[in-house]
Amino acid sequence: MIMEALKEHRINEVPDITVKSTVIGVLALQGAFREHIRAIKKCGAIAMEIKFPQQLDFVDGLIIPGGESTTIYKLLQKYNFGPALEKFYRQKKPMFGTCAGLILLAKEVKGDSFGLGYIDITVDRNAYGRQVDSFEQSVKLELGPAHEENNTIFKSGAKASDMPDRFHAVFIRAPKIEKTGEEVHILGNIESTPVLARQGNVLVCAFHPELTEDIRIHQYFIDMVIKSKNMIKLNSNS
Ligand code: GLN
Repeated sequence: MIMEALKEHRINEVPDITVKSTVIGVLALQGAFREHIRAIKKCGAIAMEIKFPQQLDFVDGLIIPGGESTTIYKLLQKYNFGPALEKFYRQKKPMFGTCAGLILLAKEVKGDSFGLGYIDITVDRNAYGRQVDSFEQSVKLELGPAHEENNTIFKSGAKASDMPDRFHAVFIRAPKIEKTGEEVHILGNIESTPVLARQGNVLVCAFHPELTEDIRIHQYFIDMVIKSKNMIKLNSNS
């Protein structure tokens, strides 16, 4: 019965993998990691600060927070995170990058040589100007049901497609997604500029969902993590 439910993605019928037993790591080298930890706990999952690459073996999903992408990149190199992140990505464990995290996960960063290349987007790092140019804006969410993989099931039983389609978003020196590859699904936009996007198990967001009380985007990510955890388990059993 469990195998059938997993195969058909009826995740809420599988008794042993729940939000409560899902561990989300938050890269805690610099930036807004504490706020993400708070949001993860609010969703009912377990949060873990990640300061060393070896810790990635103990988490099911990873958030790379906002902050200063150049600083985070230098610290990632200093602590030799490269191989552990690559392993994490190849294991198909979900990653979620917000703001500076988005920049780090991008395939191409205009004028810079970094970018882990896990999502096929081209980014302009400070397209919206300096710190004073931060702003708040309503984002139009399109979390479902356009793509099968977005038609996810929350622990409450509600589907992503049932969610109201607006999110009050805080942008701080936000990066701009200038180009998206064919396999990238746009899940949120402002005036036709993508600000929330996903490719496979990689989710990126140009704003700071952790700075508002609205946890829907974190719930969406945790749902991606639960789904991938089930798939990993299914593959290791077969
Ligand atoms: N634009 C910043 C950078 O290049 C990111 C800003 C943020 O994370 N709030 O790192």
